[in-house]
Amino acid sequence: MNLQELARDGVRALTPYLSARRIGGQGDVWLNANEFPGAESYALTQPLNRYPECQPPMLLAAYAAYAGVRTEQLLVSRGADESIELLIRAFCEPGKDAVLYCPPTYGMYGVSAETFGVTRKTVLSTKDWQLDLPAIEAALNETTPKVKVVYVCHPNNPTGNLLDHEDLRRLLRMAEGKALVVIDEAYIDFCPEMSTASWLSSFPHLVILRTLSKAFALAGLRCGFTMAHPEVIQLLLKVIAPYPIPVPVADIATQALTGNGLQQGKRNVADVIDNRRWLQQALSQCSCVDRVFPSEGNWLLVRFSDVAHVFRTLGEQGIVVRDQSKQPGLAGCLRITIGTREECERVVQVLKEIR
Ligand SMILES: *Cc1c(COP(=O)(O)O)cnc(C)c1O
Repeated sequence: MNLQELARDGVRALTPYLSARRIGGQGDVWLNANEFPGAESYALTQPLNRYPECQPPMLLAAYAAYAGVRTEQLLVSRGADESIELLIRAFCEPGKDAVLYCPPTYGMYGVSAETFGVTRKTVLSTKDWQLDLPAIEAALNETTPKVKVVYVCHPNNPTGNLLDHEDLRRLLRMAEGKALVVIDEAYIDFCPEMSTASWLSSFPHLVILRTLSKAFALAGLRCGFTMAHPEVIQLLLKVIAPYPIPVPVADIATQALTGNGLQQGKRNVADVIDNRRWLQQALSQCSCVDRVFPSEGNWLLVRFSDVAHVFRTLGEQGIVVRDQSKQPGLAGCLRITIGTREECERVVQVLKEIR
């Protein structure tokens, strides 16, 4: 029996998302997945014999208070990644509709669309990594396939920049009545004043993605949030699994979002920003570095004159970073997550020795 032939055509052709974990690597300094370098410990306070609520009320209330939205505007999911997929499942007809996103950017928008047989339309960002609005508008006006969801990442992974707020408003206006605009705010906790959450009441087709994986140091927990009009949330609830959030996840996420947990989150952000500033300064003095791009997230995008050599040398010294050099416009670039100060120093020590 040929199991390959039994599978869907589209699945046979798929290459799974190459996450930092799947690419792997060897070393003791892990700066390849934009994780927070330190961990809190949490104790389980809930029994496990019962099924969880689909949307754990305490967790919803805690995040709603943190983000300044109503619980009806909120969905909890298995990381922000699950939400990227739920939006496609709820809004895109396979073989008929499309999603649109703007490379260089986060890889999961394309992977999730492909998994469901939904066309991927891409509009490259401009030279300064802003939205190419005329090209996006042209793509939104095409009818076959029809763009139903536009994903933009703010701040953008891996380029590190914020998108112009006026451009985002223009995008929302041009997508009105046509498509959802999903603003991925996975890193907004590092620059909270730039959030677009307060626009939710003005734009019913605005969707905002959040996660506890980055600033809250809980990548292993798998907990993310979607903020949107209550009707969009109700549509997503039709396609989500019956028990997507395990009891321990809800328990720990609620702890992280209340009292001391929130204070710790704030300290994490301050530490990252402090180390980012230090690393940016130190890298700009290394002769192998061509350019350090400014970043609003917990990483730096760095262009090197000989990226293959730098990547290899870092690897040999046990430092794992993310190669971005194959993304459009990012030749020569590596993405380096902000680790502890000691980890940042290790990076600089190695790079200083490279001509
Ligand atoms: C890390 C990341 C996510 C995924 O977050 P999870 O909650 O861990 O699934 C989504 N979007 C962007 C831009 C990210 O970098």
